[in-house]
This record gives sequence, structure tokens and C-alpha cells, in this order.
Amino acid sequence: MCSELKNNENVIDIQSLTFKYGTRTVLDNINLQVKKGAFLGLVGPNGSGKSTLLKCILGLLQPSSGNIKLFGKSSHKFKDWDKIGFVSQKANSFNTGFPATVYEVVSMGLFGKVGLFRFLTKQHKEKVKEAIELVGLSEYMKQNIGELSGGQQQRVFIARALVSDPELIILDEPTVGVDIHSVNNFYAMLSQLNQMGITLLLVTHDVSGMTNHVNAVACLNRHLHFHGNTKDFQENHKLSAFHGQEVHLLVHNHSTRGGE
Ligand code: ADP
Repeated sequence: MCSELKNNENVIDIQSLTFKYGTRTVLDNINLQVKKGAFLGLVGPNGSGKSTLLKCILGLLQPSSGNIKLFGKSSHKFKDWDKIGFVSQKANSFNTGFPATVYEVVSMGLFGKVGLFRFLTKQHKEKVKEAIELVGLSEYMKQNIGELSGGQQQRVFIARALVSDPELIILDEPTVGVDIHSVNNFYAMLSQLNQMGITLLLVTHDVSGMTNHVNAVACLNRHLHFHGNTKDFQENHKLSAFHGQEVHLLVHNHSTRGGE
């Protein structure tokens, strides 16, 4: 997992970003930096703009104003998409009825590089096995993905992202549909990947589940209300109980502390 970036440099740098659907502002002057090596939890209630922000980061939506830099490059000019893995909440419904094995689904993560399955080299095949091992699913390699639990399926999709050696993985509500007992193990696995040097941006409304694992938290509800370390987040009870009404109170009582 090598990187041209030095520690402390920003993998994602969002500057004064505003996004409007028509005349409705759903992201208002967001400043947020994700440092190399961070494991950042981005939280906010439904409708707070999390998906919209992700779409802006991934280049699917054009911000109304402001800039986004990825790995130090303006997102307009950024081409190294291999550096970024994306795992979405929909991942666990994708392919589950399709009779593909865990090994085959993870191999698909290399198709952008090598083309079809039959072009995989010995090294590629090793890489696939390594990624499956990293997410703790070696014994399920030949099993159809549809036979696995929601948590195991999400691990398969993490492995599919891992095969192209990403430096950043963005996860959009990855624990939706994952049973409560598996969630903790899932987060522990993410921590392990983070310790290997992969920067993680986890978008979730599962505030309580993720706080033992992430090392920083950003709270979004149109504005960025907080960005800081997990301890400060936990000690701020209003933020920790970050749900709809609480957030509206914060809008009145709390000044924005974005970009810490
Ligand atoms: P979250 O991911 O936090 O649930 P979203 O980014 O999906 O929030 O949505 C933010 C706001 O933008 C919501 O009020 C939502 O209704 C609105 N919105 C989302 N997508 C569209 C769209 N394509 N057109 C108009 N409004 C949208």
C-alpha cells in the first residue's frame, strides 16, 4: 500500500463546497480534510447530505461552488481512480442471487486492470486470495456469495475493493443489513485495514457502533457541525446523540468547527 503522499497530507481536501439541487442548498460551505491514515466516520441523520457529499467526492455530481482535491489534485484532473475503493450500502444486495463464488466476485475488482477473468495472471490470483484472507473469508472462497450472511457479503465487497491496492476506501453505510453481532467484527476488520495504512472514510448513521473504531468524526447536516477526534465527539453528549432534533439545536447553539 504505497503512497506518494507524506503523512499528514490530505487524501481528500474539500474547500468551501456548496451543493444545490435546483434552488435548494443541501451542502452549505463544507470544509473538510481527510488526512492520510485517518479512519474518519462521517455521520448525520437521513437527508443530511451524506450521499450528496460522497457523489461530489466521487465526481458524480458537480458542486455548485467550491473545490475538491483528491490526493493533492483537483478532482477535475484526478485520474488515479484505482487509488480509491468504494463499497456501498447496496453492495449486500448486489449479486446475491447470482451464482458467483466469493473468489469470482473478488476477482471482478481487477477487471478494470486486466479485463476478463481468463486474463488473470498467477500474481493476480494470489492477490485475490490475499484480499479474501485479509477480510477473514478464506474458508468461503468457493462458496456462492448468496449463501453468505449480510456481514460476510460486505467483507467480500471490501475484498473486491482491496485487490486493486486502494489507498483510500470510501464506505457508504456498509453495516446496513448486517446483523448486530457481526457489526463489531466488521468494524474491527476495518481498523485492521486502517492500521495497514489504508485511509478510510466511513459514512454512516450508526453512530454508537462505529465510535469505538474510528479515530475521527465529522458531523454533517447541511453544514459541517463538528470535525475532530473521537474522544471530543464522545464527550460532547449532544453530538454523540446526533439525531434529527439534536442537530437542529446545534445549529442555533454551536458555531461551525469544520476543517480541524
Ligand atoms: P443522506 O445521504 O444524508 O440521507 P442525501 O444526500 O441523500 O442525504 O440528501 C440530502 C437532501 O437532498 C435530502 O433532503 C434529499 O431529499 C435531497 N435530494 C437528494 N437527492 C436529490 C435529487 N436527486 N434531487 C433533489 N433533491 C435531492
